[in-house]
Amino acid sequence: MQERIVSADRQAGDDQQLEFGLRPRVFKEYIGQDKIKEKFAIYIRAASERNEPLDHVLLYGPPGLGKTTLAHIIAREMGVSIRATSGPAIERPGDLAAILTNLGQGDVLFIDEIHRLPRIVEELLYPAMEDFALDIIIGKGPGAHSLRLELPPFTLVGATVRAGMLTSPLRDRFGVVERLEFYSMEELQKILTRNSLLLNVEIKPEGAREIARVARGTPRIANRLLKRVRDYAQVKADNIITEKVSKDALQMLQLDRLGLDEIDRRLLITVLEKFNGGPVGLDTLATAISEQPETLEDVYEPYLMKLGFLQRTPRGRVITEAACTYLGLTMKSDGHSQRRLW
Ligand code: ADP
Repeated sequence: MQERIVSADRQAGDDQQLEFGLRPRVFKEYIGQDKIKEKFAIYIRAASERNEPLDHVLLYGPPGLGKTTLAHIIAREMGVSIRATSGPAIERPGDLAAILTNLGQGDVLFIDEIHRLPRIVEELLYPAMEDFALDIIIGKGPGAHSLRLELPPFTLVGATVRAGMLTSPLRDRFGVVERLEFYSMEELQKILTRNSLLLNVEIKPEGAREIARVARGTPRIANRLLKRVRDYAQVKADNIITEKVSKDALQMLQLDRLGLDEIDRRLLITVLEKFNGGPVGLDTLATAISEQPETLEDVYEPYLMKLGFLQRTPRGRVITEAACTYLGLTMKSDGHSQRRLW
């Protein structure tokens, strides 16, 4: 399947070098998420003054909103090293033990997609988080015995798309749980302006606004689109991103004015036409558009709900009037849609 230009997930095409170059390093460069920044400034200062590691932190929210970036900033502001890994990468308890025993005093361990940790690994994490200790079983059979290994105090920063995907014993062990929000147009515009400077391309405020409009509230998507628009500006327009250059480039990428792509539109139209506007259950809808229910729930729906196009009700998903208006579709009294502009 072709990768979506507006997917918030990290893609092979996202130049890691570039992403690192654009990644904010300190809170001052980290735009938006003001409430979270304010809280962390206090927690970090308090922990530093007490000479203690920061409490364990769980960050959740849709991909591309800055969870990994925030984890790196936290480590930097605490003046400690960070070790970054992910749930699926830690396959066996031994992998986790090797990582934990190599941490320095107060270091940050960042585990992305922490909900995908294998169960036996997760269980090893409980005493590590709570008592900074590792319980290792030595030997096999009747002679086996367990050995408790002391660990240096550390901070676990976990990231996941939904806090509800964690088991409750794991979730309960985080002292700080924060949800990252989608970014406003103004915040994305600021990010794009800063990053254009770093990428050596001139951008006009209106040019940034056009990209921000379709970036689905997500800095990772904004950065990816900026790269494509930059290419277009370089080849077609003296390396200056004006309103027209942005619009033309985005049109070339087949994005509509809210950044919806084919799959979003298919989802909305399916709810309207196959299920009379809903309510329709998640699994049924996923089958109808040949996607995984989790992908639907974590990747597509959050942005459609933010736009007020889709609602989650106890009986299932429902399309809103606003979505119909946007798509140029109307609902007839018999429940069937009528295409106006489509
Ligand atoms: P996540 O871990 O939530 O998937 P990342 O932390 O990897 O997201 O962020 C993706 C990219 O978006 C980063 O490389 C960074 O350049 C950019 N980014 C994220 N948050 C911000 C922010 N608050 N300000 C500026 N750029 C950001």
